Amino acid sequence: MEPMEASESMASGDTPRSYSLETLAVRAGQERSQFNEHSEALYLTSSFVFDSAAQAAARFSGEEEGNVYSRFTNPTVTTFQERLAALEGAEACVATASGMSAVLSLVMALCSSGDHIVASTGLFGATQQMLGSIMPRFGIQTSFVAQTDNAAWQAALRPETRLLFLETPSNPLTAIADIAALVSIAHARGVLVVVDNCFCTPILQRPLDLGADLVLHSATKYLDGQGRVLGGAVAGPRRLTDEVFRFLRTAGPTLSAFNAWVLLKGLETLQIRMHAQSAKALQLAQWLERHPRVERVYYPGLASHPQFDLACRQQKSGGAIVSFTVKGARQEAWKVVDSCRLLSITANLGDTKTTLTHPATTTHGRITPEQRAAAGVSEDLLRIAVGLEAVVDLQNDLDGGLSSI
Ligand SMILES: *Cc1c(COP(=O)(O)O)cnc(C)c1O
Repeated sequence: MEPMEASESMASGDTPRSYSLETLAVRAGQERSQFNEHSEALYLTSSFVFDSAAQAAARFSGEEEGNVYSRFTNPTVTTFQERLAALEGAEACVATASGMSAVLSLVMALCSSGDHIVASTGLFGATQQMLGSIMPRFGIQTSFVAQTDNAAWQAALRPETRLLFLETPSNPLTAIADIAALVSIAHARGVLVVVDNCFCTPILQRPLDLGADLVLHSATKYLDGQGRVLGGAVAGPRRLTDEVFRFLRTAGPTLSAFNAWVLLKGLETLQIRMHAQSAKALQLAQWLERHPRVERVYYPGLASHPQFDLACRQQKSGGAIVSFTVKGARQEAWKVVDSCRLLSITANLGDTKTTLTHPATTTHGRITPEQRAAAGVSEDLLRIAVGLEAVVDLQNDLDGGLSSI
């Protein structure tokens, strides 16, 4: 293969979309270079060389497709974008430096001063801050409504509403938004629906199949899956992802080639990790539900979950996040955290190592007390992101703290 052909064909993988998800996760998007490497190549370069002045001019003007500078495109990043697009069933995908830069790029690309967004009170803390505190300074207002109250979403729509922004299951309470129902409410008014699919990943839930317009990811979580790098993405129809790309290539919150390469390796094991971690989460949730020091368990795979039926329809399983309240307040919750020896005290999630978080003082510590109350993040609440350790070891570790309450 001529090197030129290699770089030209970088834009499109040749793995048929008809393959199963686990096959796409391993194969989609890969284009071999002239060296015929088996594993995906890491193109750690900030710029690309042209054959001539004329080619440089054609690449810069966009007349000729091809890589120019890694703030715009990079072959390793392109491979990651193609693979995630294939998994989400999206036409195209734009990768970003983090999940929050995906949120930022999406809003900056699709909204203008005067526009309005409707979002859930259960959104990830930093997303709430971005929409609730930063964007209003630029004339973009957001109304926050209860995740599960479809009538409230509908009532919040205004003539200038541009986006419905949801995240399901929510963090940390795992409330389920009805994607298909909200899509029909939004589309009747010409409003776009964005779904943050961080918790389920395309393995457990494909929002675009349910009619959503765009899927957003913090790739930092399950897509990497081993707690190594930051990354994010926006996937959907090319007419919308092109808008995001136009913002990104100028503003620069681009995914690094190195992180894209790590994320590609993460995607290869995404399916087996999601199913295994989800199965362990269900076992742990059932055990917690029976524990005398536990007040309430929030897990979409439990029949006691308020949207259990919807979760069964919309997701392949409950996912790997289990939240619960202890009998007590902050002091008792902190006691459980501090007596754990195995579970890591860290705010990250989506890792093979199980993590334990007190949301009220960490992930949701910087939003206002009113926002925290609206999101249901109480002082007695703990969140577990279940990894791949043996469930019995996780139970024993938690039991030490719980029994001391
Ligand atoms: C972590 C997270 C984000 C933000 O992603 P970063 O990669 O940390 O910037 C957004 N949404 C959800 C649901 C998250 O869990």
